[in-house]
Parts: sequence; C-alpha cells; structure tokens
Amino acid sequence: MKNDYLLLTPGPLSTSETVRKAMLQDWCTWDADYNQLVQKVRERLVTLSTRETDSYTSVLMQGSGSFTVESVLGTVMPKTGGKLLVCTNGAYGDRIVKMCEVLGIETVVVEEEEHMAIDPSTVEAHLGNDPTISHVVVVHCETTTGILNPAQEICAAAKRYGKTTIVDAMSSFGGIPMDVHDWGIDFLISSANKCIQGVPGFGFCIAKKKELEKCKDNARSLSLDMYSQYETMENNSGKWRYTSPTHVVRAFYQALLELEEEGGVQARHRRYIQNQQLLVQGMEKLGFSAHIKEEQQSPIITSFLFPDDPTFTFQEFYQTLKKKGFVIYPGKISEINTFRIGNIGEVYPKDMERLLDVIQETCSNWEHTFV
Ligand SMILES: *Cc1c(COP(=O)(O)O)cnc(C)c1O
Repeated sequence: MKNDYLLLTPGPLSTSETVRKAMLQDWCTWDADYNQLVQKVRERLVTLSTRETDSYTSVLMQGSGSFTVESVLGTVMPKTGGKLLVCTNGAYGDRIVKMCEVLGIETVVVEEEEHMAIDPSTVEAHLGNDPTISHVVVVHCETTTGILNPAQEICAAAKRYGKTTIVDAMSSFGGIPMDVHDWGIDFLISSANKCIQGVPGFGFCIAKKKELEKCKDNARSLSLDMYSQYETMENNSGKWRYTSPTHVVRAFYQALLELEEEGGVQARHRRYIQNQQLLVQGMEKLGFSAHIKEEQQSPIITSFLFPDDPTFTFQEFYQTLKKKGFVIYPGKISEINTFRIGNIGEVYPKDMERLLDVIQETCSNWEHTFV
C-alpha cells in the first residue's frame, strides 16, 4: 500500500493510505447505499463552500477537472445572446478561451502576463465599456505558475454590473478559505484530486440554485450537460445520469472526513502555507529563486527559475529527485524556463524538510555550482 514516491504535483497528488483503502469495495451505481453516499458528498461540498447553504447546490461530473469546466461553460452560457469575459494569465485561462472557441461561445479576453495577477480594475473597465458581456470567468489559483488571482475582487466588480460569475477554483478550493456567497460566485468549479485530497475521476460545481435553474436546455453536449446531471441527482436522490466513478466517490467521501478531522479548510490552509514557506525559504537558501512575487504567490504550488548553471537540465534533476522519493513538475510557462514544486496533498512540513535535504545533496554533486 505504500507509495514509491511523494507527488509534489498539483493533482493527482499524494493521498492518505485511508483514502486509497476506501476504494477497496465495489458499489452499484444506482443502488440506494451508493446514492446516499453521493448525497452526503454533495451536502458536504455545499457546507464547505458557504454559510448560505440554502441558496447553493453542488453537482458532480465524471471526468477530469477540465470536463467540469467545459460542462459549466457549455451549460451556463445561453445558446444565443451571451458573451463571456475570460480573464487569463496562464494555461488554464487559455484553456477556457479554447473551450469557448469549440463550444461557439462569444468571448472578450482580458489577458495578463503570466507572472502578473489579473487586475480587477481592467475587468471593471471592460464591463463599463461593453454592456453585452453577460458572464465573467476567472481562474483563482492559476496552477501554471502558482499565482493567485483576486477572484473575490473580480467577482465583486462583475456583481456591480449584474453579471453572472464563474470561478475555476480547481487547485484552491478546500485549501484556501472562501465563501461563494460572500465572494459573489455563482458557479465554482473544482475536482476530486486537488485540495480535498481525493483521487482523480470526477469534478464538481458549486452552483447558486437560482442561477443554475436558468440553464435548462442550454447545453451544447449531452454528456456534459450540468443541468441535466443536476436534475437527475435531485430527482433521483443522488443518481448520476451515466456510470459514475463509484470507487473514486467513496474515496472522496473519506477525504472529506479527513479534511474535517484536520480541522477544516482553515487548518489545511495553515498546513499548506507552512509547507510552501518552508519550501521557498529553503530553496532560496540553496540559491533558487521563485518566479512569482511573494504577495501574489499561492500556498499551492511554486514556480522556480532554472538555476543559472550550464550543467542544469530539468530531466536529470527530475530523475535524481524521483529516485530519492520526490516527483516534481516541469514548468508550463511559455516565456521562461521554470520547474514547479507543489505542496498540497498528504504532504507535511517534515516532507518539505526531507525534500530540501535531497535537493541540497543533489546540487552539491553538480560540476558547476550556481550558489
Ligand atoms: C488541475 C486544474 C484544472 C483541470 O485540469 P485537469 O487536468 O483536467 O484535471 C483546471 N484548472 C486549474 C486551475 C487546475 O489547476
């Protein structure tokens, strides 16, 4: 049952042994025992996301996180007459733009450089200039770099203009405190295998009921119709329309219990901050520099610049760390060479300390040293 290495990646990530063990039972996808479990998961997700639980619901969707993003976009945007303002400063914002192209959704794109957070006043200026914008979408933690966008301020601006808001909080929900009601979020998207610390297989949307009720017959896809999925789950007490990832859902339920045991989102946030700060401080001592300014850096994943050393290659660095028990992530930034180290999942400060020891050992073997 033990893992060969720790995943320092932004999902799939290292899960607890008890979460993985929860998958060792088979479930019938339409049996009441299983459907009750689904309902408990849905309720807990709403409770995690807001104090105003009566106004919100949650819907689960098969597939990786992107499937849920595509499902929400394709279901929430009206077939005609809607226009979506998309904020982007990384690969996940760009993916939303691409999805809109495929789905035939009209967009206005607010683009920022990858190392800069989206500026709410730029969004506000667009909203003031173009009254045909109906919806606004922003990625909260842009996992491309680990930058944190001011989703709360952006949604507040959108709400001043009466727009519907969508937030891709894939890599932050469960790890950073937020309240969808207080933040003015109508649709929040996340998935099983990020900060809730489950295994991959489905995503979910926390939706304001009043807004979701408007979305019947909007969908451009049968399988990814979030409204239909909602209707089926509501009317059939937790039934999914098509085969659901039963084992993954059971593991996710266990992960939700473990989040509660840890002390909830606040406590998990504190652990992630501790992990991230240890990591950056230790890396800086070794001569590495973080790419994102500290004020905008998330406690989720950190981008580091390649060291100024002619002998450094990411592949070799990666393989060495992997042999010593840690899997890190390549960079995803287009303009500059970076690698990324995530600190979410079943990962603790002592793991960060072990990682730093291993990196120090690795650097000391390099021919040239940049430190
Ligand atoms: C992980 C992630 C997604 C979804 O990616 P998948 O590979 O489809 O799971 C979307 N947006 C953000 C910000 C993410 O971190």
